[in-house]
Amino acid sequence: MKNIIFGPIPSRRFGKSLGIDLSPGIKQCNFDCVYCELEPAKTSTHYRKVLPVSEILRAVREGLAEHTDIDVLTVTANGEPTLYPYLAELLAGLQRIKGNTRLLILSNGSTVDRPEIRKILLAFDTVKLSLDCATPRCFKRIDRPADTVDLDAIKRGMLDFRQEYRGALIVEILVVKGINDKAEEFQALNRYLLDLKPDRIDLGTIDRPPAYSVNPVDYETLRELSLLFDPSLHVHITSRRDIETLSSSSFSEEEILHTLAKRPLTSEDIQLLFDPDSRKRLTKLLKEEKITIRENHGVNFYVLSQNDIDKA
Ligand code: SF4
Repeated sequence: MKNIIFGPIPSRRFGKSLGIDLSPGIKQCNFDCVYCELEPAKTSTHYRKVLPVSEILRAVREGLAEHTDIDVLTVTANGEPTLYPYLAELLAGLQRIKGNTRLLILSNGSTVDRPEIRKILLAFDTVKLSLDCATPRCFKRIDRPADTVDLDAIKRGMLDFRQEYRGALIVEILVVKGINDKAEEFQALNRYLLDLKPDRIDLGTIDRPPAYSVNPVDYETLRELSLLFDPSLHVHITSRRDIETLSSSSFSEEEILHTLAKRPLTSEDIQLLFDPDSRKRLTKLLKEEKITIRENHGVNFYVLSQNDIDKA
């Protein structure tokens, strides 16, 4: 079967990644998200077309033989990879052939309420789960899930998973204009994510043509929404929409400390928001150890040093 393997894709966050598509050529998903990059499709709670495990493993073996410098194997699908019925067998096979390559899975989170799926996810080095809304109405509008999918069960499942999981749990939130870009939605997400304690939150918006007629938000909106999260949550803004209209600003040393107390910033945020003099002040504060850089699964965050947090 063609197109099981895609890439390699160089990623600053995960290194060089080889993608594994468990549903090549056909969308098989229990969501029908308004922002999906694939065509709109009726939801399905199981795969109608299923690739044999042996065929997927053969393709991965060939991919690894061809590209000998792969850092991570990314399990994904044209749809939802955890609906693949032989995921446990596939994982066992990947563990046998992967060598030093790490395993990452990108899931919409819908099956994390099932103990057998959580058990499989535990074996991945990084698990990235989507959670666009923490309230049922918003969740239904944006992700358009199958009737059997229940947001409360997903939220409980994620909390159970977090209890056991020792790898990197990343939660991805995709913001759609007019749907989940409200302060109340982000306050609800903040309350839930403070309990969940993911290692990182990736906050983005629509970057490619969406399935339905919906619109992205700009970087400035993502930044304002990110400020609604507690500073203990590390938020990485992944989209760069309309940054041409954004001008960098001057920050005094005090303002830099105050800003970082509200939300740690990534190197990319600093490049966009700080003018050259402010960046020099930031470097000075780094040298004085008032702030520090903390690496978070491939993303550098500028954070207040512990002493300054205690004073804040
Ligand atoms: S979960 Fe992913 S594949 Fe499924 S509809 Fe949403 S964006 Fe598309």
